[in-house]
Amino acid sequence: MSDLYEKTATELASLLRAKKTSSVEITESVLSRIEALEPKIHSYVNIYPDLALSMAKEADQRILDGRARPLTGIPIAIKDNMCLQNEKTTCGSRILANFRPPYDATVVRLIREEGMVILGSANMDEFAMGSSTETSYWGPTRNPWDAERIPGGSSGGSAAAVACGQATVSIGSDTGGSIRLPASFCGVTGMKPTYGAVSRFGLVAYASSLDQIGPFARDISDVSLLLNLLCRHDPLDSTSVPIEHPDFTKFLDKPVSGMTLGVPVEFFSKLENEDVESSLSDARKVFEKLGVKFVELSLPSLDYGIAAYYIIAPCEASSNLARYDGVKYGHRARDFDGMIEMYCKTRAEGFGAEVKRRIMLGTYSLSSGYYDAYYLKAAKIRTLITKDFKQSFESCDAIFCPVAPAPAFKIGEKVDDPIQMYLTDVFTIPVNMAGLPGISCPAGFSSDGLPIGLQLIAPHFGESKLVQLVAAFQKETDYHLRRPAL
Ligand code: GLN
Repeated sequence: MSDLYEKTATELASLLRAKKTSSVEITESVLSRIEALEPKIHSYVNIYPDLALSMAKEADQRILDGRARPLTGIPIAIKDNMCLQNEKTTCGSRILANFRPPYDATVVRLIREEGMVILGSANMDEFAMGSSTETSYWGPTRNPWDAERIPGGSSGGSAAAVACGQATVSIGSDTGGSIRLPASFCGVTGMKPTYGAVSRFGLVAYASSLDQIGPFARDISDVSLLLNLLCRHDPLDSTSVPIEHPDFTKFLDKPVSGMTLGVPVEFFSKLENEDVESSLSDARKVFEKLGVKFVELSLPSLDYGIAAYYIIAPCEASSNLARYDGVKYGHRARDFDGMIEMYCKTRAEGFGAEVKRRIMLGTYSLSSGYYDAYYLKAAKIRTLITKDFKQSFESCDAIFCPVAPAPAFKIGEKVDDPIQMYLTDVFTIPVNMAGLPGISCPAGFSSDGLPIGLQLIAPHFGESKLVQLVAAFQKETDYHLRRPAL
């Protein structure tokens, strides 16, 4: 029998139901994996062994009493930007280094109610601003497939932990690609649900019109279980949409024959990396064998996605981050002369360079006289992108494209070149701009052994189609089954 930390939630749940193992055993296995690999990978900001073991004991009792739910007893890592009552929630930042929220995020509450086991808070780029997890105040997370490389970001810790058995599943947030990119770079399956599908109550806000929480797992079966748990209406989040979500596990065995995937020519004409190209073309053959048809599409406005995103996201960030002023909570500078100096010193000390860059970009774009030239233009582009997607979905069930232009890059390679870093998200950002669901699924490896992801994008609330397509793909392929040698 392989070690418990290697198993998926679906496998563990059936062992638990059959009383062949216990949540305490599973949790101990995962905790020892965390201990062994943390010095090398650094997926976590904070690890809670005592909390995890006490939650595991409770889960075992629930199972014994016949009160188990599908994910009871399964260990999960939570991105460090979701409030965990009384435990540190730092958002990868010095300014929140000692912040202990007095309440749980809704997703954390759901995880507790399910009887899952919380392992700790996963490392991330500071305030989720980044594509590499290098801007974390707590130091970078490393890619389990090659420790010289980044895991992707901003939810790099959540992805790396699942990839190397330091968590069975995890959750992250995706504002411009922060779930799909690290999922692709770490060889796991990660989904950004539709804007409004999962509550953001208790998620530290980055860019509120784009942020969305979603799951990471080693396969689509686990993703579907997490979607069942997370996708539900929450009156505490005014953007949460009150609709009935289907049972996503029902889509795991549905045939895909007769479905149509759209191939956006603009995405593929930008691809220069041979490994990504050949993985995508092999993936296309797999779908074709399954009876899926392909049509070419044009999404002309996507070319402006990055430019518009880097107006909208920093604008929203600059106002969301105004609350970190050292008054009510978070870091406060020690020596200051008067209130204004206290604000300035606190923010100068508390925020890292990338966060400051975003605040300055956003404040500039929103300043009087510039609104029409920047924000309004970006908002118009956003409408065009949404229209382009809408039109595309008239001729296909989902869009088929890469997640990233190339596999994981080296630590330090782009951190001093913000434009290069921003361009990493060229294929993921448009999805957030339109509020659509998107998934990254392992679809191949580069010549030097790095995972490559495939992205599928569905119409609003089309998560079930993504589950259906990825499930069919994972039955035909074994990319998602390969593990890094550590
Ligand atoms: N890399 C993008 C950014 O820095 C997206 C990050 C995210 O999705 N949170 O804004």
